[in-house]
Amino acid sequence: MKSIVIASNNQGKIKEIKEILASKSFEFLSLKEAGFDSDMVEDQDSFEGNALKKATTVVKVVNQMTLADDSGLEVDALHGQPGILSARFAGDGATDLANNSKLLEIMKDIPIEQRGAQFRCVMVLILPNGKTYSAEGVCRGIIADKAYGNKGFGYDPLFIPEGYARTFSQIDEDEKNKISHRFIALQKLKAIMIKEDLFD
Ligand code: IMP
Repeated sequence: MKSIVIASNNQGKIKEIKEILASKSFEFLSLKEAGFDSDMVEDQDSFEGNALKKATTVVKVVNQMTLADDSGLEVDALHGQPGILSARFAGDGATDLANNSKLLEIMKDIPIEQRGAQFRCVMVLILPNGKTYSAEGVCRGIIADKAYGNKGFGYDPLFIPEGYARTFSQIDEDEKNKISHRFIALQKLKAIMIKEDLFD
């Protein structure tokens, strides 16, 4: 059986990836399980750049097919901010609460019709021979006037996906996972992998 190393130690992400790409062809390994324990700095200026950097760094060490992603929130009225800075919008090591408070404060005078935003995710799959595939997923929505709900992580309490009246934090995890940016990117990547005969 072939292995795919997921360039993350985030158990939630690993679970989601395993469920969507589930097959008899592959087993999935976290960075830890693959014996990779160096720190990686996300210092590129795009999601794709960061995902590619993680994937290329890891594949050189583990010499097995590697999957990496990067994602974040892009707010229309802020010209795509916080974007690649999503995790540290309120400063290095900022909590989700601090990031959410900063975003709400900046947007406090922005009316509902101008509160459009999207989560974006880029997935990069790289083979030991250097062949690289990538796929992007976007989930559109709006930024609420305050935080609602207590499920999920990151900006979930502020994000109301298109077609819904509740935030990602108020929606069941299963339901979020059917419309999320990560899910869409993974579905597209799966289609590419099938076309490229990577599944046995
Ligand atoms: P990463 O892809 O794990 O590096 O995510 C970067 C940051 O984007 C996270 O720390 C969150 O702030 C934000 N983010 C990415 N995906 C989501 C999501 O599904 N919900 C809420 N916040 C997210």
